[in-house]
Order: sequence, then C-alpha cells, then structure tokens
Amino acid sequence: MESISHDWKWQIANRIATREQLEEYIELTEEERAVFDGELPLSFAVTPHYANLTRNSEALRKTVIPVGAENNVGTGELADPLGEEDHRATPHLIHTYPDKVLFLATTFCSTYCRYCTRSRMVGKPQLNLEGRVPSRPPSAMNQSEQSPALQKYADTFAYIEAHTEIRDVLISGGDPLTMTDSVLDELLSRVRNIPHIRMVRIGSKVPVVLPQRITDDLCSILRKHRVWLSLHFIHADELSPETQEACRKLSDHGIGMVSQTVLLKGINDTPEALKDLFYGLLEINVKPYYLLQCDPVQGSEHFRTTVDKGIELIQSLHGHICGLAVPQYVIDAPGGGGKVPILGKEQLTRTAEGVAFKNYLGKEYFYPDQIG
Ligand code: SF4
Repeated sequence: MESISHDWKWQIANRIATREQLEEYIELTEEERAVFDGELPLSFAVTPHYANLTRNSEALRKTVIPVGAENNVGTGELADPLGEEDHRATPHLIHTYPDKVLFLATTFCSTYCRYCTRSRMVGKPQLNLEGRVPSRPPSAMNQSEQSPALQKYADTFAYIEAHTEIRDVLISGGDPLTMTDSVLDELLSRVRNIPHIRMVRIGSKVPVVLPQRITDDLCSILRKHRVWLSLHFIHADELSPETQEACRKLSDHGIGMVSQTVLLKGINDTPEALKDLFYGLLEINVKPYYLLQCDPVQGSEHFRTTVDKGIELIQSLHGHICGLAVPQYVIDAPGGGGKVPILGKEQLTRTAEGVAFKNYLGKEYFYPDQIG
C-alpha cells in the first residue's frame, strides 16, 4: 500500500474503486469478494483516508463495503424514495418545499455510502430527464454571459430568479465540496447575487471522508458567501484527528455547521453510539441537527431500524445528555412530504405494512416499517 498523502487531490486521484484496490487496505471475506465479482447495484468508491478508518471500525466498514443484501428490494422500497424526480424543476433543481430548493450541483462523491437516498444517481451520469423538465422561465442572464463552468446550470439559475418565493438554496448532489475552488466560488456568487435568496447551505460529507479538502482557501470562499454546512456524520469513529482539525478550521473561519445522522441498524442504533457521536460533534462546533430514519431506498432493508426503535433512542437521550447534543428525530416523508419531526408513538397510525403520519401541511404520508 502506497503511503497516504494529505493532499485532497491525491486522495481523489487515488480513491479506491475496485476490489483489488480495496484489498490493499482491508481484508475482505469470501462473501464480500463474491459480491464484488457480481454486478454492484450501487456505485462503489472510497477515499484512502476513509478506507483506513474502516480497518479499525466494523461500523464504518458496513457503510461502504458492498454486501449481497443490497441486491434485495424490500416491500415499499423505491429507487427514488423521496419522490424527487416528481419535483424536478430543472435538470439540476428539485423544488419540494414552498421556499426552499435543492440544487443538485454534481453526481460525484469521493466516497459512496451504501444506504444513499440518491443511489439512483450518485456516481452515475446525470439522469435522462426527458419529459420531466417543465417549460423554462426567462433567464435574467443571457446564456452566452454565463461562465463555461456554469452554463449547464443556466436553467436552474433562471428558475430560482423567476421564483421570488424561494429563500433557501441547499446545494447538494453528490458532494459539492468535491468541486474545485473556482467553480464553487462562481456557483456561490451566482446564487448569492439573486436578491431574494437569504440562506445558502451546502450538504456534504467531505469533512468526514476527505478532510484534506478543507483548506484555508476553501474556508475563505465559504465564509465570503456566508454558507452554512449541513454535514453528514454517522458514527464517532468518523471523528478522526483530520476530521476534527477540518471542522475546527471551518469553525475558526466562522462557518456555521450542523449535522445529519442517518439511523442505521447495527451501526449507530444504541444510546451509547449516538451519545458518543453527538457529544463528539459539539466538541468540534457541529450542532447535531437531524437523526434521520433511514429512507426506504432500494436495497436498504439491512440498514433500516423500526420507527419504534428511533423513538426509543431519541427519548433515551432527552434529559440524559446536554440538550444541544440532541437532534430532532425525523422521517423524510416518502414521496416528497418533507421532513416530519417524530416526537412519540401516539403521532403514528400503524398498519401491518408500516406507519402513517402527517406532514407540516396536514397531508398524510406512509413509511414502510414492517421490518422487525
Ligand atoms: S456522501 Fe451523501 S450523496 Fe454521497 S453517497 Fe453518501 S449519502 Fe449519498
């Protein structure tokens, strides 16, 4: 195994994308080797940094190493569980909430999580969106004036400009922090120059899987555009010295950070695992924001806990640890109802197949929760 470099571009250039490369870092079981030799339903890649962490963490290993169970499609599981494709406003934009949009800037991640809600698209070329793109609003900026790097987003900027009710842009993907400084700077400038936009967030797992990317230059760009980061952590074993340094650097530059944690069976579904993670996050100035019930994406059954388990876990934290360390437990309503805070079992109507609950508009949604 080549020695690991602290340069983020080296980490991406040398990321592990085959079984042979992975076996230079960790020993695979016969079953895992057989899975690799078949066709993988989800994209596979992991940075050398994260692969190194998996050597001492069974929990992290489970989140990135393919297993046979991801070929099974459980009851109620969908390729697009959140119904994002039905809310696609432009090829790069999902508009579900009244004043918030999700800007899908890239389909690239340095490391692919096996439970990813967008596994249908991450690591793959942009989806064929024929027939899904609504008529285009007039753009305030002529396409020829756009920088070449941003031309593919012209429709998206035009849509945001035309929809003056939009206040909040969440730039996600894929992982936007894998883009170069110059493209990210241009993209953020373009969004920030839209007068009605008040909040710009980036969703990212980069400080965890590619902490070397958090350079002073990147921090200055994020600070200049007053960006909040919505980070994705699932276990305290991810809080490596490099990740702690990256988050402290972001914090020192005045970047606001919150975290989203997907609740994962056999990985973080104990009070101790969650307490360790949430206290660890506060120590590096990241506020635990959401504990997310795992979305019913195809091939996720082996990762999903019951909703009752999620409620028990969050109730085991309230009052027992610092209030700031307790996130909201939410279900992202399948089909596009948005995130719904789950406070107790009385909020749910049970059927044999799952649980029904209402979102912020009083509309009923259903989560397939038959697994025990
Ligand atoms: S980092 Fe986010 S978008 Fe990328 S694979 Fe993981 S969950 Fe999906």
